[in-house]
Amino acid sequence: MRVAFLGLGAIGTPMAAHLARDHELTVWNRTGDRAREFAARHGARAAATPREAVTGADVMLTCLPTSADVASLLDGADGIIGGASRGALFLDCTSGDPATSRAIAERLARHGIAFADAPVSGGTNGAEAGTLTVMVGGGAEVFERARPVLASFGKRIVHLGPIGAGDAMKAVNNALLGANIQAVGEGLATLAKAGVEPRLAVETLNASSGRSFVSEALVPDRVLTGAFPRSFRLALLDKDVGIALDVAREAGVETPLLAAARAALHRARALLGEEADYLEAIRVIEEQAGVEIRA
Ligand code: NDP
Repeated sequence: MRVAFLGLGAIGTPMAAHLARDHELTVWNRTGDRAREFAARHGARAAATPREAVTGADVMLTCLPTSADVASLLDGADGIIGGASRGALFLDCTSGDPATSRAIAERLARHGIAFADAPVSGGTNGAEAGTLTVMVGGGAEVFERARPVLASFGKRIVHLGPIGAGDAMKAVNNALLGANIQAVGEGLATLAKAGVEPRLAVETLNASSGRSFVSEALVPDRVLTGAFPRSFRLALLDKDVGIALDVAREAGVETPLLAAARAALHRARALLGEEADYLEAIRVIEEQAGVEIRA
């Protein structure tokens, strides 16, 4: 199958590497060097514009920071709509927002292009291993066409409902992740200040009912070690929690706890900058408490 992939960021790159193994792949990236390097390394073709990338493609995938970034690639002389064939399939793997995804889908439908939102979860490690969870929103027929393509990098490919349902699922997932990072950081800072050795605190927590993915899979390697490797930008997590709050507001659900987590993450983003890793939000808690959560 001829496949186009646009957006070779931290997670897009390993996703595209799987597609390059399974398909005839063309890539495009805003910073062209990344696309050319990827093409040379993975036996793909690098396109100079979004339009060139999608010309002749059966399926095109995008993985950009926001839905607005995806929408910005549709129009103009170099835009996707100018190059995409009628009958092609557009899968947006951005952690996007439902309203913009619906608007994008409507625009594409006028040109005979089918759309599904297909955000992913599992991090850069999951992308490298090809074990991502893919959360799909779109029609049943579109889902069946998308599934074999998404299977290149996805292990669980779930059809959640109409367009936007994948985005909503992903945003709520990440809102829970963000709230948990904040909660675990506050709890461990409290214990460190109360005189409990951080590694012992984490080990005890992970053998008790307060444990979570954050405390089990993230804190030991990334916080206790002080490594804080950069894999997922805090700015993107902040964006996701914001989307979840918008979805909740529209649905008429009050979310005081998620709103508090959003405020904390948003403040951490302002303090640490756009390139900080998501777990570095815990650094802000440490700074305020005057303690470090290190083994
Ligand atoms: P990065 O910031 O690492 O990469 C962003 C990519 O988008 C780069 O290729 C960048 O190009 C490109 N880009 C940014 N703005 C624009 C624009 N306006 N027009 C065209 N291209 C643009 O992000 P990630 O790869 O980490 O994340 C991508 C998406 O996946 C996000 O929605 C994120 O929330 C989601 N996600 C990320 C995960 C992770 O672990 N990193 C996990 C799950 C989901 P350039 O090279 O020129 O900067």
